[in-house]
Amino acid sequence: MRLILLGPPGAGKGTQATRLTEKYGIPQLSTGDMLRAAVKAGTPIGLKAKAVMDSGALVSDEIVVGIIADRIAEPDAKNGFILDGFPRTVKQAEELDALLASKGLDLDAAIELKVDAAKLVGRIVNRAAEAKAAGQPVRKDDDPDVFKTRLDAYFRDTAAVTPHYAAKGLLHDVDGMASIAEVSAGIDAILDGKG
Ligand code: AMP
Repeated sequence: MRLILLGPPGAGKGTQATRLTEKYGIPQLSTGDMLRAAVKAGTPIGLKAKAVMDSGALVSDEIVVGIIADRIAEPDAKNGFILDGFPRTVKQAEELDALLASKGLDLDAAIELKVDAAKLVGRIVNRAAEAKAAGQPVRKDDDPDVFKTRLDAYFRDTAAVTPHYAAKGLLHDVDGMASIAEVSAGIDAILDGKG
């Protein structure tokens, strides 16, 4: 199963990706998580990405495509993967197409979690409050002002990725404002019979 989850930050992609990794036994490839790990480890990529991520803007296509190319080549991704937060620009989507084609691989589906953007800021404020209450670190970019910059980046650069997959007949959508259980059921109904 090779799957892409699409939708703005805060749409619930990470929650669903985590669940699907267990269901299918394939890894979740989150460029956001990988970049945060690089920042934490102080790698050259992390040093380059940190300020951009803190501002809510997008890291360069070159960096994230490089990260994904390396990650897809690892043994645990051999039987499939769930992309979460990648691709975020049409250029990244095109590079992913070329990368998969060079390996003779196909995507099974791109699933868009459709959400009401006006309600996302509230969701992210909750996510930050819940993390804090649980004693977990709060993401710097879950600050409401930075989050607005992330949403702007989504509508400016990432929204155009959806038609890219629609044109290939791979796009499906699910109501991301429904409960987690309903979103899960919607995704499972799409994926049943695939992979
Ligand atoms: P996320 O956890 O997916 O919301 O990503 C957190 C931040 O990492 C984003 O706001 C971007 O700065 C950066 N990032 C993650 N994935 C990508 C990507 N595919 N392209 C560019 N920047 C990314």
